[in-house]
Amino acid sequence: MNVSILGCGYVGLVTGVCLAELGHTIIGVDVDKNKIESINNGHPPLYEDKLPELLLKNLKNKKFIATIDLKSALSSSEFVFVCVGTPQLDSGETNLDFINSAFTSLSEELKTRKIPLTIVIKSTVPPGTNDLMLSLLEKKSGKKEGVDFHLLSNPEFLREGKAIYDFFNPDKIVIGARNKNASERLKNLYSGLPGKIIETDPKTAEMIKYANNAFLATKISFSNEIGNICKKLDIDSYNVMDAIGLDQRIGRAFLDSGIGFGGSCFPKDVKSLIYTSKKLKYEPKLLEQVVELNEKQPLKIIELLKKSLPNLKGRTIGVLGLAFKPDTDDIREAPSIKIVDALLKEGSKIVVYDPKAMDNFKKLYPQIKYVTVEEVIRSEAVLILTEWKEFESFNYKGKIVVAGRRIKKAREAKIYEGVCW
Ligand code: NAD
Repeated sequence: MNVSILGCGYVGLVTGVCLAELGHTIIGVDVDKNKIESINNGHPPLYEDKLPELLLKNLKNKKFIATIDLKSALSSSEFVFVCVGTPQLDSGETNLDFINSAFTSLSEELKTRKIPLTIVIKSTVPPGTNDLMLSLLEKKSGKKEGVDFHLLSNPEFLREGKAIYDFFNPDKIVIGARNKNASERLKNLYSGLPGKIIETDPKTAEMIKYANNAFLATKISFSNEIGNICKKLDIDSYNVMDAIGLDQRIGRAFLDSGIGFGGSCFPKDVKSLIYTSKKLKYEPKLLEQVVELNEKQPLKIIELLKKSLPNLKGRTIGVLGLAFKPDTDDIREAPSIKIVDALLKEGSKIVVYDPKAMDNFKKLYPQIKYVTVEEVIRSEAVLILTEWKEFESFNYKGKIVVAGRRIKKAREAKIYEGVCW
């Protein structure tokens, strides 16, 4: 089938390239000219395992191309996936500006369109957004859902770093539609993929995404809470989590205590759900605690560092890992940001290393030093903030190491402290 993808960021580019791999013909559309140029030259503007190979292959066999021209892309498309960003406002509310602007453009295209179009919202949007966008489309284009177009919700559950694997091996595909016919069309597009297909209404589909992320974030904050208590009792929280994780009702995933969750999804999605809930006059106390605990958790590492170096002023502190998790260059809401801020406030000299995220971090913190691993390890104390596999091969002997993430080899350090172990 012919598909346009609106927004070629993490979600849009991965979805587009993977749909091309399934045999569909894809046109990626973005407002960012440089991004489009880089994609068409075979260089994804983000780091994701196996993405460069798949992009090149599908560019070559003409199954994928990127453009800034929405009109021409839509003229040959039966589907359009909306994958634009939905960032967070200070209040926690989701900023729907990119969504609104994408739908305004789509309504313009619908006005003169002769053949039906299936529009799919993949971006994470608050429950009720699909209904709002339906009103906008019908009002502005004068066209009718079910006749001239369909509007579905199909939230995305990929994990950055494992996004290609996740596309081809989903646990579930959630389809929110107002009629069976539209739902069937989207099911056909994904045919060949494993995983359970959940067919529901758009508002429920939107809520499934928030509940999914809120639950995972809660698991992490829970493991950090238990981890903080374990630390005071001189217990290794990993031993506790390994044991409770064997309980089938619990499961081991997302129970790694540490310096908290980050990334472009969990923090903003939990805050958005809190905002939605409060607007409906319900106090989501559990979710508020999940966020509050997570905001304080990164600074535990500074407390522990001060046990070895009480005055951090003028001290050279090495940071290993900036990305919010391994296998990505994404630093959005990464704990490293709060930790580097705290070190700067203390007047420390900071040297950092990350295998993939240094370029992104440089844009925020040009004033710190981006160095080799060896130079980080040579500093007065080393903080481990991301569990990149390669950190297991370094020599920590004789050093002071405070670990916010679990790297076994670092235990050989002269002084070793883990945040929750
Ligand atoms: P992103 O910021 O990486 O990409 C968004 C892209 O949309 C940008 O390239 C931007 O230039 C483009 N864009 C904005 N307005 C546009 C318009 N009118 N027309 C065309 N392009 C436009 O965002 P992302 O991380 O890919 O996230 C996209 C959505 O998916 C968000 O709602 C996010 O919450 C959700 N999501 C993200 C992930 C993830 O791991 N990143 C996972 C699941 C869901």
